[in-house]
Amino acid sequence: MHKYDYLIVGAGLFGSVFAHEATKKGKRCLVIDRRTHTGGNIYCENIEGINVHKYGAHIFHTNDKKIWDYVNSFVEFNRYTNTPIANFKGELFNLPFNMNTFYQLWKVKKPEEAKAKIVEQVKKANINTPTNLEEQAISLVGTDIYEKLIKGYTEKQWGRKATELPAFIIKRLPVRFTYDNNYFNDRYQGIPIGGYNKLTEGLLNGIDVKLGVDYFKDRTKLDQSASKIVFTGKIDEFYDFRFGALEYRSLRFEHETLENKNYQGNAVVNYTDAETPFTRIIEHKHFEFGCQDKTVVTKEYPEDWQPGKETYYPVNDEKNNTLFKQYQTLAEQERNVIFGGRLAEYKYYDMHQVIGSALVRVNKELNIQIADTL
Ligand SMILES: Cc1cc2nc3c(=O)[nH]c(=O)nc-3n(C[C@H](O)[C@H](O)[C@H](O)COP(=O)(O)OP(=O)(O)OC[C@H]3O[C@@H](n4cnc5c(N)ncnc54)[C@H](O)[C@@H]3O)c2cc1C
Repeated sequence: MHKYDYLIVGAGLFGSVFAHEATKKGKRCLVIDRRTHTGGNIYCENIEGINVHKYGAHIFHTNDKKIWDYVNSFVEFNRYTNTPIANFKGELFNLPFNMNTFYQLWKVKKPEEAKAKIVEQVKKANINTPTNLEEQAISLVGTDIYEKLIKGYTEKQWGRKATELPAFIIKRLPVRFTYDNNYFNDRYQGIPIGGYNKLTEGLLNGIDVKLGVDYFKDRTKLDQSASKIVFTGKIDEFYDFRFGALEYRSLRFEHETLENKNYQGNAVVNYTDAETPFTRIIEHKHFEFGCQDKTVVTKEYPEDWQPGKETYYPVNDEKNNTLFKQYQTLAEQERNVIFGGRLAEYKYYDMHQVIGSALVRVNKELNIQIADTL
């Protein structure tokens, strides 16, 4: 008899939601994480009374009332609305592209004037079938928006020239002909009052958690501790990289505490020119309307990924997707291992999506078990 029903590898959102729901149904769970904290990438470190988003700014947003109610059952969310600013060589623009942006670019005040400007520039570029990201973007929004707000930022993000990037990376470029700076279209958004750690603590309350434990360092013993494994780490690592390593884009964060109450007046400022080496400055206190005497800012530098660096964004091109499918075929044959979350599924998930996916998976798992025992 195993001590636990489930060994859950990874205390991020997928693992924590799975553990919470399984425990609610009477299952015994052990959650381990190789990091020294829970929460995975949503973890916040408290510096000077400010919740600093250690692995990149996280803004919760969803259209799904059930997911919104679910997260609010663990911690109340505030009314934070994401309204990022773009800084292009010192000039400021509102994002997402909306009437405020168009006024700042061209001094146009009416939607028809803005539409006409975009149509005129798209026509002039005369691109029939875009062959790269640059052509794709210009054919959607014209040259001004592309040059000032897309080009430099995207090239920094991917570490390559826009003319060398495939067109499919940009499928749509939402353009809004209203004076609305709200970045998300979703009905619900906000930040947990008191920070994301409250959400994780709520999910993992009363569950056995061991931190600083790497599954691969003690695999045999850990496997013996539970009937089943929920694995939310890297799928290629699970199979000892036998087909090769999946590629990621990485980020380097430079956190700084400043003797200043308010550094940039907004949580998110994107630097869209090519010369500035970082893509964004985040001022964390604004996520929670903080009034602390000091402030903490973080500069984000996109980087190539190499073994040993944090894996942030999967590179879902043909080569990597084909590689992933090879691992997925092996995973589908496992009877006692459930793979879930951004690393095991090699997929970019927003928080509401990974919670939704964990809920679907755990419900399926528990129903199957109930059916099996009938
Ligand atoms: C820079 C950035 C910004 C983002 N911003 C937003 C946002 O604004 N809004 C939004 O909705 N979403 C955002 N996201 C997405 C969000 O971070 C994810 O949806 C979420 O964190 C995924 O949870 P997860 O459990 O799948 O993965 P993770 O949070 O990565 O959790 C996996 C855990 O598994 C652990 N682990 C891995 N291997 C092992 C091992 N061998 N042994 C033990 N433990 C292991 C890891 O240490 C990690 O803690 C952002 C993502 C990034 C990268």
